[in-house]
Parts: sequence; C-alpha cells; structure tokens
Amino acid sequence: MPARRPTPSPPTSSKRKPTPLRELVRETVSIPTAAYLEGAVVRHLRRFAAERGLDCSLDRFGNVHIEYRRGRRSRNRRPLVLGAHMDHPGFVVTAVKGRRLTLEFRGGISAEYGKGEQLRIYPVDGSAESHDGAGAATGVALVTSVEGVSRVRGGPRRLTGGKATLEQGGTARVGDLALWDVPECRFRGEIVHARQCDDLIGAVSVLATLDRLAAAGADGHVVGLFTRAEEVGLCGASAAARARLLPEDAVAIAVETSSKAAGRADQGGGPIIRVGDAVHIFSPRVTEWMTALAQQLACDHGGFAYQRRLMDGGTTEATSYDLYGYETGAACVALGNYHNAGPRGRVAAETVHLGDLEGLVQLFGRMAAEMPRFQRSLPALKRRFDDLGREAAPLLRSTAKAFRQGPPPDNSSARSTRQMTRPPSSLELALE
Ligand SMILES: [Zn+2]
Repeated sequence: MPARRPTPSPPTSSKRKPTPLRELVRETVSIPTAAYLEGAVVRHLRRFAAERGLDCSLDRFGNVHIEYRRGRRSRNRRPLVLGAHMDHPGFVVTAVKGRRLTLEFRGGISAEYGKGEQLRIYPVDGSAESHDGAGAATGVALVTSVEGVSRVRGGPRRLTGGKATLEQGGTARVGDLALWDVPECRFRGEIVHARQCDDLIGAVSVLATLDRLAAAGADGHVVGLFTRAEEVGLCGASAAARARLLPEDAVAIAVETSSKAAGRADQGGGPIIRVGDAVHIFSPRVTEWMTALAQQLACDHGGFAYQRRLMDGGTTEATSYDLYGYETGAACVALGNYHNAGPRGRVAAETVHLGDLEGLVQLFGRMAAEMPRFQRSLPALKRRFDDLGREAAPLLRSTAKAFRQGPPPDNSSARSTRQMTRPPSSLELALE
C-alpha cells in the first residue's frame, strides 16, 4: 500500500493569479450592449464575481454592485466606489416586416453617419450567446436610410433611427440589438480597436482593480458600480444616486473613456485625472488626492505617466454623484473615434491605449490602498500653503516697510530685491 501523501492545503483566493489585462479586455468589450439592453454585460459581471467569490448584487434599477471588502473596519477607511457604465450607443430593432427593419438609435452620433453602413443583429435574451458571454450575430443588415433631429433650429442633426434591410439567411426580432459591423476587439500593438470601448473599457478598469485586490488578498473596501443607460442621459447613475444606493460615506469615482480630441488629451500619455466635464467640476479634495497619488506612482516607477484634464467634450456620471452630495472625482482614458465616429463620415471601431488602461488600474490600486489616509489629504496640501505663507512672511514684511515711508520705490529696486533673495520656499508648487 503506497504511503499517504499529506493532503495539500485547499486553494485559496490568494493563490489565484490576476487575469491578464488583454484577456479581461477581450472578454468584456466584445459583449453586445446598448442602453436598457445591458443584460449580457450583467451576466458577464455576475460570472466574474462568482469566479472570485465577490459579493454581487443588482439594485432595483438593474445597476450591478460588486463589492470587495477585507481587513479591519475603521471610520477612516471610506468605501471607494468605482463606477462605469455598461451601455454603448447602438440601434435597437423596433419593427420587422419581412427583411425590412425599422430601427431606433440610442446614443449620440451625428446623422451624417449611418447610411450605407452594415449592422450585426444580436438577440437581446442572450439566446445566441456563447458560454463566456460573447455574442453571436443572427444576421447582418444594411442601413438604407437614417433619421435625425437637431437640438437647436438649423443645428447639427443627431441620429435617432433608420431603416435597414436584412441580408438573406439572417433573422431579427423586435427588441434585438443592431450594432455597427466593425471589429468587436482587435489589438494592434498597444492600441485596442473595439466597437464598444465606451464604456466597457471603463468597466474593465474596475474589474481589473477588483481582480488584483482579490488575487492579492489585500486590505481594502472597493465597490464596483456598473450602471445602465448612460448614453441616453446618465439614467442608471442618476437613479442610483437619487435613491441613495451608494454607501453614504463613499468616495465615488466615475470612470469613462472620453473623446481625446474634445478633451485635448493624448492617447498613450497615461490615465487622465478628470477635473470636471462639459457642465460641472468635481471635488477639489478628491482631484488633489488622485493627483498626489499619481505623482507618487510616477516617482516610484519611472515609466508611470498621467494627465490632468477637464475633458469637457461630454458629461459624465460624476456630475450626478456630485450633485446628489457624494464626494466625487473622475478618471478616464483618452478615446479615439468617439462613439464610433470614424474619419470621412464612416463608422469605425473606437480606440484606447492599453498603457493608459494599465496606468488607470495602477492608480485605482493605489487609491484603494491609500483610502485610510484620504481624510488627511487636504490638510497636507493646506500645510504646504501654510509653510509658504510662514516662510514668505519676514521678506514680505520687510519689503512692505518701503511702501509706508519715503518716496515710492521704482521698478528697478523691486527687480533687484527679487534677484537678491532666494525664492521664499523650496516647496515644489507649480505656481502661475
Ligand atoms: Zn458615450
């Protein structure tokens, strides 16, 4: 009888390796989705959470909350909520007559796009879904005409719907998704070309953060919030914030892909700390904290780069969270071919840079780890200004005496004073 070997210890979550980023990208961005038709993404998120033993729940509006919580509870460790939306602009089939389809467009793109483009049809119930959630099209259709409306008289028309003809052999039903026939996901070097980067790449950044925390078994409290119907007006996020479904003491970060052209941001220049959007700005304390952590990362790893931008090309869910009183910041990566608007009036895959995405995940990891010190972040900045004021005071006082006595000093003496004295502080502030 062979000697019994010692029983190996049962596998623990900390033994699991994090999923490679490219794999997470491919399996997430390829899932067909549109506003109010995010079911396939929801199924993917549930599988993701179950595989990692993470709590996953749906709120009454269908937004998905995935929670990672480990370590000691403390008043200072506020939950970090990372929110991304699950939908993307696309058509929905509203009528089928033989091979003639009537379509409604949910999302924002100019009505100059669409006519003559090819679409792929996906059943909304996932009946053609493979086991990993990737969609299989049941048909291909050609857009024969489009409809659009202007927000202002004589202004640019936005696509609202159209007609299409189903190719022989395909099937379509009312309620199906009809999405642009562009690459679902393709890597060219470090650039991801995908039909739905916005905002499934944002969702990937949140998933990768949760995945790495779970694999490391690190202390932290992070909630991934995956919202619905953003492309038709920030609906899921607003409903959740209005109903106070985020933890009351959350620091909420809205995560997006945002037009690089409209935001004047560089693709490949690193993740973007988003100061505001087209209508609003977010918590200065959160923005300052994120910037300080990005600076730390840049010091720790020579290759880490980041950008700090307003990104006022559109409106983000952060505006909802902030207006409903949550302490809010925002982050994004620079997006090419925003909303599939490619060059020369043709639709195209959207693009993001994998390095920007990796940087975003690293920044979120650092934020999760540093959350217990968040409360002290603004006092730290105030201390720097305190030092500035205190150190500058003697020189200001002594030079101010000249203003009270004798003839007014001429400019040349003021210049020489500046040249003779060292800067009042060695603090590294970018002063303008
Ligand atoms: Zn969008």
